[in-house]
Amino acid sequence: MRRVSVFGATGSIGESTFDLMMRAGGPSAFETVALTGGRNVARLAEMARALRAEIAVTAHDDALADLRAALAGSGIEAAAGAAALVEAADRPADWVMSAIVGAAGLAPGFRALRHGTTLALANKESLVTAGPLLMAEARRYGARILPVDSEHSAIFQALVGEDMARVERIIVTASGGALRDWPRDRLEQATVADALAHPNWAMGQRITIDSASMFNKALEVIETREYFGIDPDRIEVLIHPESIVHSLVGYVDGAVMAHMGAPDMRHAIGYALNWPDRAPLPVARLDLARLGSLTFRAPDIDRFPALRLAREVMAMRGGAGAAFNAAKEIALDHFIAGGLRFPQMAAVVEETLARLSRDNRLQKAPLTLEEVLETDHLARQEATRVARAAGNGNG
Ligand code: NAD
Ligand code: MG
Repeated sequence: MRRVSVFGATGSIGESTFDLMMRAGGPSAFETVALTGGRNVARLAEMARALRAEIAVTAHDDALADLRAALAGSGIEAAAGAAALVEAADRPADWVMSAIVGAAGLAPGFRALRHGTTLALANKESLVTAGPLLMAEARRYGARILPVDSEHSAIFQALVGEDMARVERIIVTASGGALRDWPRDRLEQATVADALAHPNWAMGQRITIDSASMFNKALEVIETREYFGIDPDRIEVLIHPESIVHSLVGYVDGAVMAHMGAPDMRHAIGYALNWPDRAPLPVARLDLARLGSLTFRAPDIDRFPALRLAREVMAMRGGAGAAFNAAKEIALDHFIAGGLRFPQMAAVVEETLARLSRDNRLQKAPLTLEEVLETDHLARQEATRVARAAGNGNG
């Protein structure tokens, strides 16, 4: 039986992973090692009991007592804190889902690679902050990383049986998020609730807002570069409001392979779970005749500068990815807390990057996880200063 761990089990990706595992037979199909979550310890304990996990870990030390109580009598171990998350990743597993949100997901996934595991990577921040390190670590330990972003799973599937040397371009599609049709001056007034009204995908709060600001797509362009090792000039972004074509790969002969499906993350999660095989998945089947048409258009970089910033970050390399992600996380915190207006998020990220590179504070090429985390820390501090100066004092 496969030994499986799920990091970020209580989140949107984690719940979908749990759903697929339970449908496949739960504890009779998988030997579950570790499940982790945040403050929702009741749900975490419920999942751990259903899968008969060895250990459940909450990210928060002050939630440990509640987790212990929720697991009483089950024989399931309980632990808490960032170090416990990494320790849980040190328990060998054959398949590990990395679905913590943010840079916090980097260390546990990185550690799991040491065991030659297959890492199903939803945590795109890992590749944005530490792409070269992560890929090298996987090679070193004979581990495999399978992408669980819908776009990257689509690209991965469009590449099956093909040679990367024959790839001319990769086209990453974007729904455009909740505010894609808003004129620039209206974006100034966009609230958190406006940004959360995603037209197609039901996802965690942070990625949904990132989707509206196009920061999610910016992260994904960098993710594409790091995962597939493709030149940034060969990566295009295409707005596709229906979210049916999940991405495309163009080959040297002009052929373009597209991956299509209903917007349901269980496609990408299930593909990684069953890879290299395919198994039936409980997702809606496409009815193209009923859809009638699919539409595409170029992204508007003026209204959504995140895409331009991603290009600059890729040109800078080194610690720029870690700084970009960290500054984005801080700007997002401030927007959620009401301290920044929507367009100010991009301005804060841009100013943070400018300050760090002007003072030569970006690592040329981080060689260790500690160096990446150092850059992350530095960028958070700087971004906090920038956000406070730019904002209205909230957050
Ligand atoms: P979510 O907010 O729904 O869930 C996040 C999970 O991480 C929860 O279990 C939470 O308890 C845990 N967590 C949060 N902060 C943590 C911390 N500091 N330390 C440890 N654990 C912490 O997020 P999500 O939407 O499921 O996204 C998870 C990851 O997958 C993100 O990196 C996101 O970009 C990526 N992703 C998500 C989707 C989607 O459809 N939701 C699609 C593609 C990629
Ligand atoms: Mg995506």
